[in-house]
Formats: sequence, structure tokens, C-alpha cells
Amino acid sequence: EKILAYRTTEEEREFIEAWSKEHGVKVDMIPEPLLPETVHLAEGYDGVTTMQMDPIVDPVYERLESYGIHNIAQRSAGFDMYDLPSATNHGIVISNVPSYSPESIAEFAVFSALNLVRNRSLIQARVDEQNFLWETEIRARPINAMTVAVIGVGRIGSRVARIYRQGLGAKVIGYDIEPKAEYDDLLTYVDSLEEAIQDADIITLHTPLDASSHHMFDRETLAKVKPGVILVNTARGGLVDAEALIEAIDQGYIAQAAIDVYEHEAPYMPKDWRGRTIEDATFQAILDHPKIVYTPHIAYYTDVAVKNLVQGGLDATLEVIRTGDCQTRVK
Ligand code: NAD
Repeated sequence: EKILAYRTTEEEREFIEAWSKEHGVKVDMIPEPLLPETVHLAEGYDGVTTMQMDPIVDPVYERLESYGIHNIAQRSAGFDMYDLPSATNHGIVISNVPSYSPESIAEFAVFSALNLVRNRSLIQARVDEQNFLWETEIRARPINAMTVAVIGVGRIGSRVARIYRQGLGAKVIGYDIEPKAEYDDLLTYVDSLEEAIQDADIITLHTPLDASSHHMFDRETLAKVKPGVILVNTARGGLVDAEALIEAIDQGYIAQAAIDVYEHEAPYMPKDWRGRTIEDATFQAILDHPKIVYTPHIAYYTDVAVKNLVQGGLDATLEVIRTGDCQTRVK
């Protein structure tokens, strides 16, 4: 058995080699993503895994089928970059790693909010100038005096709710298309997005990106928030209309935003762009905006996550090679 691992980095090598030895399966690593131009590299292999940022489009699925490959194992939780109907048509099982370290993303989401709540960058800029004054510009509010809206209460959102509720004493409101009774002790569910955001001081996003959630935060929704709110997005860029967000900040609806994901981030992630021009004017505006703290899709990025993603991707690939299906198949 032979597996080709697309879009790998050197830091994954030790985990890939350990897995390969343990399972007696050969795994080759390449840095390229899985694209129409790179799919031919998979010929001769039995399965593939990738950590894709760019969309995977035809003829990739068709070509994999022609090589006798029946899977693509995505090494992340999100799988919005796949064309699932086309994959199914070509007998390709798409899998993800649904729960590689939800704590990593949850911690980063809360950390990002606290950074804004406590005016961390402003304080640093003042300290850099040796301005040690206490002034209302840097005065904060404790989280236990705040209401937090968790949008999407799943693996990550429920952990975020737990930190805010049990760790920090906030009032937590949850909105989810499928509310789960097990989280009733952490938050109060409401029936609509509007209700969830109308009293919130912090809005934190944790839904997947699909047709139901695309641009969930558009001009109309952003106009319904309580003015002064902080928005945190560590889920998917496409949940937010970025231009509308910048407008909402400039008009004072939203006070500040922490953005770990941007809808059109794929060409830039994760690359060294130093000295190069960013052609995307909206992305540049996000980077330049004094009230937006941008991070490069880094919420997941911990040692535990990298190890679990490698193992999850390779386990799923081997399961499809041996049985034709896998437990982490996405539909
Ligand atoms: P999950 O499936 O456990 O939870 C998602 C929740 O959202 C579910 O309870 C679901 O019912 C709800 N939901 C779905 N569509 C909705 C909608 N339109 N409105 C309201 N609720 C909706 O997923 P998870 O493991 O918690 O991950 C959530 C997302 O976080 C992933 O899909 C991924 O896109 C993103 N993510 C980002 C990073 C990062 O590094 N920035 C890392 C991992 C995951």
C-alpha cells in the first residue's frame, strides 16, 4: 500500500514517518496542494491526503478515479473546499479530521477576544512610548459583566461557551440550527441569529461554512448588532462579508474584530508574502485596519493538532484503501 500526502510541511515528517512505520504503509510527502496541475503525481498510489486551502475542482476527482484512487482525506475539520457531488460521482470518499483538537481553536478564539477587550495593542503602543498613564481609552470591562453570543455550538463552540461561562463568568447565549440539550447548563439557546446578537458584547463564530451559513454576517445582519460589539471569527472567512464588516466597523456598529479567517485567503495561506504586493484590496484593508486584528488561519496551530491531523488523515486513507469507506467520511 502506498499513500501520497499532498501539501505537507517538514514539521509533519516525524508524525508521518512514525505512522508509516507503525502501519507498514509507504507514505510520500510533497509540498504541492492537490490541483488539476498536480493530480498526475498521485498515479501509482492507492490513496491521497491533503491539507487543502484552495478549492478542489474537476478534473481532479475524475483523474483520481482513473488512477484507481477512491479517497481524498482532508487534514482539517472544515471541508468546504470540496465539490462533494462530483466526488461521489467519481466514487471518491472525502473525509475530514473532525475533532483533532477543538481545544486549540476554542482557546485561540477566547484569547483573541480578550486581547481586544483589554485593548492589548493600544496598551503596548503606549508602553512603547513610555506612556504609563491610566486613561479611559484603555479602560476595559470584565468579561463577567458581558454577554457572549456563540454562533454554532458544536465541538468548538461548546468549549468556547464553557470557558466564557465557567471560566470567566459571562452570560452566554447560543444559536445553532440543531441545539443540543447537553449544553443547556452552559448557555441559553435562542431561536434566531438576530436574537442571539441583539444584546451581545462579544459575538464568536463556530459554524461550518455551507450554503446555510455563507455571508451569515452580511450588511443586514451587521446592522442588527448592539453597537460596540466585538466580533471574533476563527471558523471560516465566508461566514462574514468582509467589505460589510469593514463598513460596520467604520460606522461604529462593530467596535473591533478579530479575524483568523478571510474568505479569499487561499492564495496567501500559509505563505511568506514579505515584500510582495497584496492584490486583494479587501484583504489589504483588513490588514491595515486599526480596529481589526488579523491572524493567518492559526487558531488550530498547536503541536497536538499537527500530530492528530497527520494521524487522522492517514488513518482515514488506509481505512478507505482497505474497506472502501471510512468513519470520518463527510456527506
Ligand atoms: P461541529 O460540527 O462540531 O459544530 C458546528 C455547529 O454549527 C453544529 O452544532 C451545527 O449544528 C451548527 N451549525 C451548522 N450550520 C449552522 C448555521 N447555518 N447556523 C447556526 N448553526 C449552524 O464543528 P466544529 O468542530 O465545532 O468546527 C466548526 C468550524 O470551525 C469548522 O467547520 C471549521 O470550518 C472551523 N475551524 C476553523 C479552524 C481554524 O484554524 N481557524 C480550525 C478548525 C475548524
